[in-house]
Amino acid sequence: MKRILTDLNIKNKTVLLRADFNVPLDENGNILDDTRIYEELPTIKYILKQNAKLIICSHLGRPKGKYNSKYSMFPVAQHLVRYLSNKIHFAVDVVGPDAMEKAKNLKAGEILILENLRFYEEEENNDYYFAKKLASMADVYVNDAFGTIHRKHASIYRVAKFLPENAMGFLVGKEINTITRAIENPNRPLIAILGGAKVADKIGVVKNLMEKADKVLIGGAMAFTFLKAEGYDVGKSIVDENSIEVAREILEKAKNEGKEIILPVDVAASETFSANAYPKIFNVDDIPENYMGLDIGPKTIKLYKDIIKKGKTFIWNGPMGVFEFVNFIDGTEAIAKAIANAKGFSIVGGGDSVAAIKMLKLENKISHISTGGGASLAILEGGDVPGLDALTDVKEV
Ligand code: AMP
Repeated sequence: MKRILTDLNIKNKTVLLRADFNVPLDENGNILDDTRIYEELPTIKYILKQNAKLIICSHLGRPKGKYNSKYSMFPVAQHLVRYLSNKIHFAVDVVGPDAMEKAKNLKAGEILILENLRFYEEEENNDYYFAKKLASMADVYVNDAFGTIHRKHASIYRVAKFLPENAMGFLVGKEINTITRAIENPNRPLIAILGGAKVADKIGVVKNLMEKADKVLIGGAMAFTFLKAEGYDVGKSIVDENSIEVAREILEKAKNEGKEIILPVDVAASETFSANAYPKIFNVDDIPENYMGLDIGPKTIKLYKDIIKKGKTFIWNGPMGVFEFVNFIDGTEAIAKAIANAKGFSIVGGGDSVAAIKMLKLENKISHISTGGGASLAILEGGDVPGLDALTDVKEV
């Protein structure tokens, strides 16, 4: 078992906290949504209550290894003042002289916010010296950046090697426990619903969930790669040619082992990819050459809704269609509502599915909305999760 923050003795120590303060900003640098800051407060407050000194590092946006004032962490530091009465310092670098000096002079109960980690290419390169210098400022390392836990970056992965006194923060702990429990020890039936466009990102998830879930329902553009693997002509629908073979193997394995991967039986399609395209419904064995499937069709909606009604645990990642186009939102809307209204435990992850849930104002009817799309996929895939693998295991006595 990995340790969680409360397992560590951090009294009077200096804690390096990797947070996820990657908040959306407008063109003037104003924070548009401070959820990520707000949700980090329990971890921050707990650390400060232990009379510890707190150094926080995070990335913001994609500055690609170069300083860019647009992505400075300074507005985040200013914003934190609203929620905390503790003294907050700001360093204009990450492992440079300003950070080192301010870390050295930091007092118990005070916070030092470092500048954006991604102003330095060493961060994404998982650089040895960068991680070592970052670690040298602290005694203890806490990772609470769930959104980037699947990245092998210096502040996520290598830093933990230099600070063996380490643990997950409360946010990461909650995400990991919730998602792991849903796949390892769920109330059954466990229904996984996967959609979206990036098949390559999700093929490993289908593979793993096929073993864990009672049924895997597939929608979105990724359905067409699976349909094509089954031998259907899918017209102009998006197909990931490189993933067809793996999709075929997965479907074959599912058949041989009696696992249920369910594909759409009909689709809403159009001749063009455009917001005002008019949807026409076709069975999947009847998609014309010049049409592309942009949503699941009504028979599929009914089929999936009936399955969801009987489920007890749900994992949903990825929209059922191009829900950004009002004419192709039906599948995503119906599935979102079915999950929200089902009696059971539901987890929704991935930017687009979460956006659909919020758009439909169903947040309160979902048991757990994951704060990390890619990160939650990495856990669902069951493979390596660098940020977790880096944390020290508690030895069994
Ligand atoms: P992902 O990031 O893989 O979850 O993909 C999300 C995106 O997939 C959304 O922007 C959807 O518009 C898009 N999408 C879903 N279904 C389809 C489809 N049938 N054809 C094209 N794009 C789709």
